[in-house]
Amino acid sequence: MGVVLVTGASRGIGRATAILLAQAGYKVVINYQQSKQAADEVVSIIRAHSGKALAIKADIADELQVMAMFAEIDNAFGPVTALVNNAGILFQQSTIEELTAERINRVLATNVTGYFLCCREAVKRMAFRHGGKGGAIVNVSSAAARLGAPGEYVDYAASKGAVDTLTTGLSVEVAAQGIRVNGVRPGFIYTEMHASGGEPGRVDRVKDLLPMKRGGQPEEVAQAIAWLLSDNASYVTGSFLDLAGGK
Ligand code: NAP
Repeated sequence: MGVVLVTGASRGIGRATAILLAQAGYKVVINYQQSKQAADEVVSIIRAHSGKALAIKADIADELQVMAMFAEIDNAFGPVTALVNNAGILFQQSTIEELTAERINRVLATNVTGYFLCCREAVKRMAFRHGGKGGAIVNVSSAAARLGAPGEYVDYAASKGAVDTLTTGLSVEVAAQGIRVNGVRPGFIYTEMHASGGEPGRVDRVKDLLPMKRGGQPEEVAQAIAWLLSDNASYVTGSFLDLAGGK
């Protein structure tokens, strides 16, 4: 079926995606930065259902760690045929007056540079010009790229705008190399990420303002990612699926 790397798969959307892709038959690499126990648990769940999984600790913002992770995957499962760029961070909700260069750079290093580095290493393995067999990449962006997250985290929203531009540009750059590149833009999904912004109950606060009047589940995002990676989406590239309950 293929080998997929899901970055930030120890919890939330990445975890749900990793489990779904294992069910679809992929060998799945569970990347994480800190949560070893949670990542190992995802591996155990997949193996308990006769799937193949491996957890690898790597900070996607660190070039050497990303290169080492892809080399480890080469040795364990063979080169990746699919990549889900999912690991992302945000910090305490605030207006622009509170933003420091250090914070902005940390957000960009993970959410933008990290995505670029993983795309680079994946393309080196997938592209026909490098002897690869093609592949598929899904970049997890956010509805914030469209909405801007005013008063909450414009830095995060801007990083997701950059992810969308990466998706558009790279999709054209590698289309003739057998690689499809698409994006998903989740909206308000029940995960632990909102606690990083200082408001664990954020989805419940805003849900009545959404056209569908509810937040989303990580599994609903995972389904869209799995479809975009699959051959069912074989003529889809440079596209975006919004999973934001109509917002
Ligand atoms: P989450 O529950 O906070 O999980 C984040 C994951 O990313 C964790 O597995 C974390 O690993 C990992 N991670 C963070 N920094 C990393 C780094 N530098 N290197 C490697 N892994 C790192 O987040 P989520 O809500 O599932 O979000 C997943 C993606 O969806 C993100 O890109 C986010 O921006 C996007 N998104 C989420 C929502 C939402 O409502 N939840 C909405 C729109 C978009 P550790 O636990 O090991 O630190």
